[in-house]
Amino acid sequence: MDNHWRATAHELHQHFVEGKISAEAVVSSHLQRIAARDGEIGAFLHVNEEGALARAKEQDGWAEGKRADHPLSGVPVAVKDNIVTRGMPTTAGSKILRDFMSPFDAAVIEKLLAAGAIIVGKTNLDEFAMGSSTEHSAWHPTHNPWELSRVPGGSSGGSAAAVAAGLTPLALGSDTGGSIRQPASYCGIVGMKPTYGRVSRYGLIAFASSLDQIGPMARSVEDARLLYEAIEGVDPRDSTSTAAPSATLARGNGPWRIGLPREYFGEGIEPGVRAAMDQALERLRSLGHQLVEISLPHTSYAIATYYLIAPAEASSNLSRYDGVRYGMRVDGHDLVNMYETTRDQGFGAEVKRRILLGTHALSAGYYDAYYLTAQKVRTLIRRDFDQAFGQVDFIVTPTTPDCAFPLGSRDDDPIKMYLGDIFTATANLAGIPGLSMPVGLSEGLPVGLQWLAPPFQESQLFQAAAALEAVLPKLPWPTGVDHE
Ligand code: GLN
Repeated sequence: MDNHWRATAHELHQHFVEGKISAEAVVSSHLQRIAARDGEIGAFLHVNEEGALARAKEQDGWAEGKRADHPLSGVPVAVKDNIVTRGMPTTAGSKILRDFMSPFDAAVIEKLLAAGAIIVGKTNLDEFAMGSSTEHSAWHPTHNPWELSRVPGGSSGGSAAAVAAGLTPLALGSDTGGSIRQPASYCGIVGMKPTYGRVSRYGLIAFASSLDQIGPMARSVEDARLLYEAIEGVDPRDSTSTAAPSATLARGNGPWRIGLPREYFGEGIEPGVRAAMDQALERLRSLGHQLVEISLPHTSYAIATYYLIAPAEASSNLSRYDGVRYGMRVDGHDLVNMYETTRDQGFGAEVKRRILLGTHALSAGYYDAYYLTAQKVRTLIRRDFDQAFGQVDFIVTPTTPDCAFPLGSRDDDPIKMYLGDIFTATANLAGIPGLSMPVGLSEGLPVGLQWLAPPFQESQLFQAAAALEAVLPKLPWPTGVDHE
């Protein structure tokens, strides 16, 4: 097997444009790597072998100019399986969408194809993106390439593990409360959640519509940026899609004022995470940036707020799976019984828990106490960020308080699982962009650092992350899989 799978997306594209490698060789190398390694990782739900090879061969017939005009030509990309794709199954990790084939491509897929990307397959996730470990997939769990007995994080765990293990240089994830950034952190890669409204969700299977965003995952900041630039942009088919204001705030190359929220550096952070963070912060200081302590006083309400709003919206979004319109149907003795048995057999336990929580929070008599209150607290959380960004250009935090945990260890404790989202869910509630990047290892497991920026400051976010990446030692390949 040749080693194209080790290359970055930038390198692959450049070498392809220059005629040094063929797209077919690139795709074959990744397909072989998937065949050799994905048995133990379980990152993919569907591998688009024939389709990817056919597209690669077609691109090999392109002239240099045409190759160069397509910024992702010659580059494999994997897609989280809650993003619909024509010609490939889309299950969202749920039995209720077994055998579902979308009649159309999501907006981000149209954009990827227009940019020349070669889609190599669909990646595993927690059912309907509800979870933090990819253990709640109806099909199989995904294993962390750093240590196969551990979770890759979630819900975009398949995408994160695939990128980390060299099964694809790029992957799309979705992030409702951290599902790009947390698995990126656990797998030692870069993952970015854009500003709410920046990337079209047309064709993203809805979980919580006021929080969902699609974003890039890659092994470097530059590669994440390449994928992001291919997918961002206004789309009239997503009513929340927003054009970016032209004014930018952060100062070019710095020095920047970087806020460290005291609420994110308190108790409960694993010592190894803290140590890796401290080293990264030291590097930022030595680059001449000013690190200042700030406060985001409503942080402690974030989990309660998120776990009211997200299930409430999910309970509404998931009402469409009725055995009639999409996917699976289990017949019953009458119509209502058909709905009930389809949903009972089609949804897994975590999804049912969310539907119950969400339906309760929205029900008459409880709406004011739960949903409305959560919305008010959400406003307070957003104002915390507005105020903070009056003082600083960026905010830096640990992405997660801990490193990848053992598979099964949080199975019977959903609250413990939910609490792990404490540092990521706030960005979704506030609608701001966030990026996680690896900053070191703790007992052999990756530690992620999160950058947060004001709305529509993605460009600055990438710039800041790249500046830090340039002065940090590069992580080795993950230790849990063979890299021969
Ligand atoms: N872990 C969070 C949840 O379970 C976030 C999920 C996500 O971002 N899709 O809801």
